[in-house]
Order: sequence, then structure tokens, then C-alpha cells
Amino acid sequence: MTATIIDGKAFAAGIRAKVAEHVARLKADHDIVPGLAVVLVGEDPASQVYVKNKGRQTHEAGMKSVEHRLEADTSEADLLALIDKLNSDESIHGILVQLPLPDHLDSDLVINAIDPAKDVDGFHISNVGLLGTGQKSMVPCTPLGCLMMLRDQLGSLSGLNAVVIGRSNIVGKPMAQLLLGDSCTVTIAHSRTKDLPEVVRRADIVIAAVGRAQMVPGDWIKPGATVIDVGINRIDKPEGGTRLVGDVEFDSCAEVAGAITPVPGGVGPMTIACLLANTVTACCRANGLEEPE
Ligand code: NDP
Repeated sequence: MTATIIDGKAFAAGIRAKVAEHVARLKADHDIVPGLAVVLVGEDPASQVYVKNKGRQTHEAGMKSVEHRLEADTSEADLLALIDKLNSDESIHGILVQLPLPDHLDSDLVINAIDPAKDVDGFHISNVGLLGTGQKSMVPCTPLGCLMMLRDQLGSLSGLNAVVIGRSNIVGKPMAQLLLGDSCTVTIAHSRTKDLPEVVRRADIVIAAVGRAQMVPGDWIKPGATVIDVGINRIDKPEGGTRLVGDVEFDSCAEVAGAITPVPGGVGPMTIACLLANTVTACCRANGLEEPE
């Protein structure tokens, strides 16, 4: 193996430590405690794990954590009423509605009901527009975590060819915006892209956000490229049981890449760390205080 393994777990621990320091200063100097409310509708097992981890890490950083677990058949009106209540609750600075929502609920409507200043996921249409026009916004956590790791690994990203595989609103599109903001030449690939291997071979930076286990093999990777694997896929192990893998074939890509994130332990831990950082940022903005870097 030649690639540097980017340790997202350690990086995320560093961010959480900085968040905790900032939270302690807000408490000591201003008697303010940043608060994050997470809303979970239904019983999706993966979402339950995420919500539990978010709550635990919010607490550990010294912040207020509130969880609202609603029945799967909760009406849109009841969910919107809860969001309204959280919007006007001054002890809550960040609101996150865990996606996916059950089918009878309109995700766009629900997300756009969140006060954009409290939209720590950065999915509200106002934040999407602000990010797209290079203005101060709430930045979606997963792409933000990827950008932080890239800057740490590469320094300036200016002029590099970046290929983002996946065009979802929560990962692919905001990732492309962030890379453009850092002056990369950005290509967004998706299921209709022609000759994906050739497109990926041109990339100095590859971001895989597809949701297809080990789809990207090492012979698609330009030697020395930096590979960020966002995918989280559960596959069967030959000896029984299951394991998590990403969207890239780790072993073959690590032979060619300059640096690569593992799954698990890469992008995943960064997402929650960035959520905590976004909540502190929202809290500082709400109180007219200096934001963390
Ligand atoms: P979506 O399903 O919303 O989007 C997947 C994207 O991949 C789509 O744009 C789709 O194209 C594209 N795609 C599908 N098949 C192919 C293909 N054969 N070739 C090229 N592109 C293809 O997924 P998300 O963006 O929500 O998530 C992507 C992955 O990232 C998932 O594994 C998810 O679990 C993981 N994830 C991880 C997070 C973390 O914290 N680490 C956070 C969020 C997501 P098209 O638009 O044409 O259909």
C-alpha cells in the first residue's frame, strides 16, 4: 500500500475538542449553552443509531441536546408545529430533522420550515442559495467534513481537478459547490455519466458519494490522487455476518492513491463533528458573538 490513510476518527476528535473548548468559553464568558434539537420520525434503525450518537456527542461537548422521537404516522401538521416551537425556542440554536422521513411527509416542506439560522444541516433552500452564491451560510456537515480533510491533506486545492461521483442534495451538489469555492475544476458525475472510469482517471481529487459498495476500483484512480469515500454500505462477509464498506474498493485504490479515507473511520466521524461545530457557529451568530474558525 502506498497511500496515506486519512484518519477521520482522529481528525473528528480534534474538532470535537475545539468545539468543547469554545462551548466552555461561551458558558464562562457569556453564560450561554449552545443547544441542538434532533427530530426523528419513525423507527428507521440506521437513523436511530445516528440520532443516538449525535445526542451523546452533543452532551460530551458540553452542549444542550434535545431529542424528539415521533411516531412513524405523525402528521405533517404536528411535525411542522414542533419545528415552529423549536424555531422560537431561544435555548435551541440548531435544529436537525433526521432524513429520510416517512413517505407521507414532504421533506422539502419540512426542511424549509426550519429557521435558516438554525438549519445546522444546511439543507434549507436559503442556505443552499447562499452557499451557491459564495455567501456566508450553514454548510452541510458531510461535505464540510470532506473539505476539511482535503485542505488538511493538500493545503491549497486551487486548480486541482475534482470529480464528485453523486449529485444528491445532501452530499454531491454541496460538495461540488465547496470545491468550486476552493477553486477546483469540478466535474459532477452521476448514473448517466458516460465513461465514468475515464472521467475519474482525470481527477486529482475523487469524492465517491454513490451508495454502491466498492464501485470504484484502483484502476480508475490517477496515481497520487486523493480519494474521499463518503459511501456507507453494509455487505455480507464470506465467513458470515456483515461489515461496512465504502463506495471505493479500498485495497486496490490505496495501491495507487496518494491519500485515501477508510470506511469506517473516515468521513463518517467528521459528519457529527461538523454538526457540533455548526451548532456552535449558529449559537455565536444568534448572540452576535465571534464565530469559531
Ligand atoms: P443518493 O442515493 O441520494 O445519491 C446517490 C448518487 O449516486 C446519485 O446522484 C446517483 O445518480 C449516483 N449514482 C448511482 N449509481 C451510480 C453509478 N452507477 N454511477 C455513477 N453514479 C451513480 O445518496 P446520498 O448522496 O444520500 O449518499 C451517498 C452515499 O453516502 C451513501 O452510501 C450514504 O450512505 C453515504 N452517506 C454517508 C454519510 C456520512 O456521514 N459518511 C452522510 C450521507 C451519506 P442519479 O442522480 O443519476 O440517480
